[in-house]
Amino acid sequence: MARQGKKNRDEAFWVKALESAGLGVWDWDLRTGTCFYSATWERMLGYEENELAATSDLWLQLTHPDDRERALASGDRHIAGLADTIETELRLKHKQGHWIWVLDRGGTVERDAGGKPVRLMGVQTDISKQKAAEAALEQVNIRFRLALAASGTGIWHYDMATKKSYWDARTRDMFGVVADTDEVDGDLWHSYLHPDDKEAAERAHQPPPGSNGVTASQYRIIRRDGQIRHIESLVRFIGAAGEAGQILGTVRDITEAKLREQELAFAARHDALTGLWNRAAFDRLLADQIATGVPLAVFYVDLDYFKALNDFAGHAAGDLALKSVAAGIGSCLPPSAHAARLGGDEFALMVPDCDAAQAERLAGAILAAVRDADLGLAATSRRLAASIGIAIVRDRVTTVADALACADDACYAAKAAGRDRFALFSTDAVSGSGGLNAARLAADTVDAMDDGRLKLFGQEIHRLGRPWEENRHVEVLARLAGKSGRLIPPGEFIPAAERFGVAARLDRWIIRTALSRHSAAMKSGAITLGFNLSAQTLSDPGLWDFVDRIIEETGAPHSGIGFEITETAAVTNFDAAETFVRKARERRCRVSLDDFGAGMSSFEYLRRFPVDAIKIDGSFIEHVTESRFDREIVLAIASIARSLGCAVVAEKIERQETVAMLGDMGVEFGQGFLLHRPEPLERIVARATGMAGASGRKAS
Ligand code: C2E
Ligand code: CA
Ligand code: CA
Repeated sequence: MARQGKKNRDEAFWVKALESAGLGVWDWDLRTGTCFYSATWERMLGYEENELAATSDLWLQLTHPDDRERALASGDRHIAGLADTIETELRLKHKQGHWIWVLDRGGTVERDAGGKPVRLMGVQTDISKQKAAEAALEQVNIRFRLALAASGTGIWHYDMATKKSYWDARTRDMFGVVADTDEVDGDLWHSYLHPDDKEAAERAHQPPPGSNGVTASQYRIIRRDGQIRHIESLVRFIGAAGEAGQILGTVRDITEAKLREQELAFAARHDALTGLWNRAAFDRLLADQIATGVPLAVFYVDLDYFKALNDFAGHAAGDLALKSVAAGIGSCLPPSAHAARLGGDEFALMVPDCDAAQAERLAGAILAAVRDADLGLAATSRRLAASIGIAIVRDRVTTVADALACADDACYAAKAAGRDRFALFSTDAVSGSGGLNAARLAADTVDAMDDGRLKLFGQEIHRLGRPWEENRHVEVLARLAGKSGRLIPPGEFIPAAERFGVAARLDRWIIRTALSRHSAAMKSGAITLGFNLSAQTLSDPGLWDFVDRIIEETGAPHSGIGFEITETAAVTNFDAAETFVRKARERRCRVSLDDFGAGMSSFEYLRRFPVDAIKIDGSFIEHVTESRFDREIVLAIASIARSLGCAVVAEKIERQETVAMLGDMGVEFGQGFLLHRPEPLERIVARATGMAGASGRKAS
């Protein structure tokens, strides 16, 4: 009884204990194959007592399929004597359909005579909550490890008490440390620091104990193999770790990002093809340089024939040419200079502390470098050249735009003057005399020769008192049809042409064009033409050969051609001019001294150049009827001319009284609006040819 009572009391006690502990008990008899499950076990799974049929494999039926094998194996191992206890985790199906995790622990409680287990007992504990927490933690860990791996972040810590450092594998790898364990010497890190970054990095790695802020820093390390790497670091103090706390840090190698950043910064300021500065960067550099007040030279370099090369050899060849031109230009420049590609085939250079003479020498070197530029395969047939404009900037107040416009302007002039050359402007010249317009005009004049906008006009020269038909001499006058269609008088574009060295080309063009168009009329004797020669044209040693060749080509007679020379623009090569005048007269071309009396050295010219005629400057003629002074001058010139055997021509005859007075003074020839207003040369020639035909018929 007592025993029974004790047993009953024990049972009730155990049930209560199991209940409150949330434990389910199983009791398995291997001999009968039956298994008992406690009411607490059933309740753990959401069932009422005895609601489940107590078959021996009940638990197995309720076990998650994935866990069955493991659970069975754990029991089998124990029964076979390979394990002291059964211990396994498995999922059981709750009545409501979800799975609950249980920890199953048990073992043998009875053996047969041979020692073989015949009865096993165990408890199952609901560990779903721990499992969920574990899973959540594992999730966090997985994510954390993934994030570390993905960002290439290494972790290290330093123990304040033991003064030891621990670097994870990634940190060691980053620094190039070969070691199998995490523990490294406490001073190791310091020995890697780049001297320039050492102090700041060390400061950033000393978070005050007790603080909980994160300090971010970047520093460079020099690895033992010499490589420099950029490291980004986050550091904080952890009070709860170690005896005296730890410094915990992460490191990330940001070398690639740094390089990309530098590349981007470079790309933002440079031309991708040539590596030279781009326009925006150049403008800033130039502004800074001008602000220093040190005189500097600004070059504007425009390639000639580049478009032709591009069209002919293709863009790849064009790119190659630009690159080698850029390299060539770069090799000429002093270290303080800057070069930029402004786009297309235009470059700009800035040379600090450079005067005009130095700039000109430099320009010569650049021209040579461009001519020598390697054009690859296309080089066999094509060459490049450059037109360079130079502006010397001395004034702090000059704007970048002005400086560049000025150099551009000079470049225009260089182009107009025939390419493969340079032109120099001082900023004073541009702001003073409207040099910009003059340069454009000169360039436009050159273009006009090609596109038919340079026109030939003519003005009849009369023997005074006689009809023009008797001598039929015409002075050829140039006209420029502006792009807007306006006719620009030579008084505007000839000085510009002279200033920018285009006048000689202009005169040659006029001569060639007039002779090839009207040689027939000249040969027939219907007309003679007088050409104006600028001082530049006259200074050209090749001028006579040129004229001679054109005469030969066109068949125009020498005697039908006259040249008018002036002293207004100084002749720079007197020998060449004298030779020309001599040769021209030998071949019976007529030569006149134009604008006689207007310049200071008219008589000097007369002495040096034996001529056929003197043209008295129009300023003495227009008021000759009222001005006694002008009359005296005209009389003097006329008498000198007569004594030298020269004909005399009066310009600018506008009134009838003037004609009468000039006749009295012995002036034989005249020209002026009264007698004839300049008109297109071909109209005059057509008229003259008609007259010649008519008189020819009369004569026959
Ligand atoms: P120029 O050689 O003295 O030519 C005469 C200029 O006087 C012409 O001006 C003519 O239109 C103008 N003229 C003629 N009669 C009168 C008149 O009664 N009253 C007034 N007020 N003017 C008159 P244009 O055609 O404007 O030429 C101006 C100058 O340009 C020429 O002066 C000549 O020096 C130069 N020129 C013209 N064509 C050429 C050329 O092909 N080559 C060169 N180098 N110079 C040229
Ligand atoms: Ca003239
Ligand atoms: Ca004249």
